[in-house]
Amino acid sequence: MKAVYVADVAYQKYVLEHCGVRITGTYIVSINNNYIYDGELDLKGLFQITDVFGFVKNAIGEVENNLLKEDTLLESEAEPDQELGLYCKVPYGCPYWDYCKKNLPRPSVFDLYRMPLKKKLEYYREGISDYKQLKACGKLKNEKQLRQIEFALEDKGTYVNIDGIREFLSTLSYPLYFLDFETMQPVIPLFLGTKPYQQIPFQYSLHYIESAGAPLLHKEFLAESGENPLRAIAEALCRDIPMNVCVTAYNKSFECSRIKELAVMFTDLAEHLLNIRDNIKDLLDPFQAGHYYNRAMGGSFSIKSVLPAIFPNDPKLNYHNLEGVHNGSEAMTIFPRIKDMPAEEQKKARHNLLKYCELDTYAMVKVWGELVRIVEGDTEDGD
Ligand code: SF4
Repeated sequence: MKAVYVADVAYQKYVLEHCGVRITGTYIVSINNNYIYDGELDLKGLFQITDVFGFVKNAIGEVENNLLKEDTLLESEAEPDQELGLYCKVPYGCPYWDYCKKNLPRPSVFDLYRMPLKKKLEYYREGISDYKQLKACGKLKNEKQLRQIEFALEDKGTYVNIDGIREFLSTLSYPLYFLDFETMQPVIPLFLGTKPYQQIPFQYSLHYIESAGAPLLHKEFLAESGENPLRAIAEALCRDIPMNVCVTAYNKSFECSRIKELAVMFTDLAEHLLNIRDNIKDLLDPFQAGHYYNRAMGGSFSIKSVLPAIFPNDPKLNYHNLEGVHNGSEAMTIFPRIKDMPAEEQKKARHNLLKYCELDTYAMVKVWGELVRIVEGDTEDGD
């Protein structure tokens, strides 16, 4: 049981008791992640109820202490003099994070790629916050972090390791597919055999090129809102992606996990699905390996950072220019609502979802194309 939940319950108990309500028991009701929906919702199986009486008894004294501290703060004219700490992000991200670090240089140690917060805080407490100090201290050994600092400080262009990129590209082959899923994560499972919070793929976009120099082709799938999409998407994948072809995904573990789950659910399609999964290559790899870096990426290798860094002025690649759906969160929110929309709105929403997902794989094609262009000799090695 997480301490933070107990603290919440203790606070509620304290408030209610001080309002005159007699509390006879304290429980935490949480979702049972192992519950599997069998077609009829079993609330006893979906929720688990934990008696936290003993924990709350121990925590209630803290509530009083905290309220006294809050009173003192509220009475004071000055802002609290509070250093940044782990508590700013754990267990929850504090909404004042940007405000509290407003006096730090930009970028600062907190913008560094792949450094645990604990480590960043150590530098910060030692007074090493800006990139010049980080470079001068000589403690940083991570090549990618050093490159991030160097490119930010010296306004450098693009770093390219041609051999690394060439090696990655040599692992790809035609016909070459570019795959991206959209998923939703219902807390209360909607479909037979699924669990709370399970990622349910309902859409994919698939660009593909049959052979070198061949035209770029596109296929897509979007389930009917309100219906179980799993069998339909599994069948569509097997129809659209032949066995033994090279498929790319960006951050492939997500696509691989969804395909594996489909294979477990639909054993008659498992051989084909697992073959697709086993042939997926990760387009993120050359970026994560540091073979390509550009200052505009700001230390992030997500496609939403890589794409505008490589193609800063291409309106066709700008997610902001899409209508209605601009990111995965919007897609997962809109899709289940479509079933309740009037027909015209449904049409529009489906169109927007298709355009969004299509841009995801088109972006992958463009990123891959840039890597090919680099290797084919248009860019010098180095920076
Ligand atoms: S970010 Fe939040 S938790 Fe961190 S110091 Fe500021 S107010 Fe406190």
